[in-house]
Amino acid sequence: MTGLPTGLPVVTTASDLAAHLEPMRAGGGTVGFVPTMGALHDGHASLVDASVAATDATVVSIFVNPLQFGAGEDLDAYPRDLEADVARCAAHGATVVFAPTVDVMYPDGEPSEGGRILPGPVDMSLAGPLEGRERPTHFAGVAEVVARLFRIVGPCRAFFGQKDFQQLQVVRHLVAEMDLPVDVVGCPTVREPDGLARSSRNVYLTDDERAAAPVLYRTLQAAAASVAEPGWDRTAVEATMAAAISAEPTGHLDYAVVVDPATLHPPEAPQPGDELRLLVACRFGKARLIDNVGAVAG
Ligand code: AMP
Repeated sequence: MTGLPTGLPVVTTASDLAAHLEPMRAGGGTVGFVPTMGALHDGHASLVDASVAATDATVVSIFVNPLQFGAGEDLDAYPRDLEADVARCAAHGATVVFAPTVDVMYPDGEPSEGGRILPGPVDMSLAGPLEGRERPTHFAGVAEVVARLFRIVGPCRAFFGQKDFQQLQVVRHLVAEMDLPVDVVGCPTVREPDGLARSSRNVYLTDDERAAAPVLYRTLQAAAASVAEPGWDRTAVEATMAAAISAEPTGHLDYAVVVDPATLHPPEAPQPGDELRLLVACRFGKARLIDNVGAVAG
């Protein structure tokens, strides 16, 4: 165990984490868990706040998981600043930071299909569309690391951001499928004052791209208002979203869709009052940004 200047313990192995949590567990306390890849911002901090409010001890993991990056993605360039991250965790009342190395998480090397602890791929109907189409190995890598982290941390509750809505649904499915005794809590997206969702990848944006990026949330809000109108048409709403985002010369749209939140596929015969999810993904230079909002069908 190491202590950075904040005094908040930072542990790097499963046994050190278990030893650290043992007295609290023995007393019947609940463990909250916030998995992250570091480069922490106010969005992550809101998850820590939610965990601190709801549980007796909060573990924040900081691990840039190679398994969820595809070839040619930003694994090496991904921003890392452990000291600042630990200070932020301390300021928000976390109990312990778990910052394992790749060797700790994958002692036998990065697992290929055969070496994974998951019995099989996560339900491809959730992991397949949207991000999964663009990043085919991404959710298998997320599911694997989340399953391993849950095994090490043993949380009662785990806190995930709605900003990564598909990830949240994949994790919920994983927990149900593996029958894990973890309550998965989805927390609201924290935004900049102009609406841009907080993201560790926002640091990649140039000034021009940063100025253009709030188009994503503006477009999602307008589309949420459209689908709340009686007689709305999904194809027309999606086309309007695509046109609004594509009007920004620095943006390159991947998708702009209206889906059923349970399936992540287009809603079948939506009825007034049905819950919908609107999601977008767009590249601005080196940053690939995603965002989404909930809506209710008119
Ligand atoms: P990451 O470090 O990007 O893997 O994210 C770790 C957790 O923080 C995930 O559950 C994300 O959904 C969540 N998160 C990231 N950005 C935000 C945000 N702007 N608001 C709320 N949660 C977020």
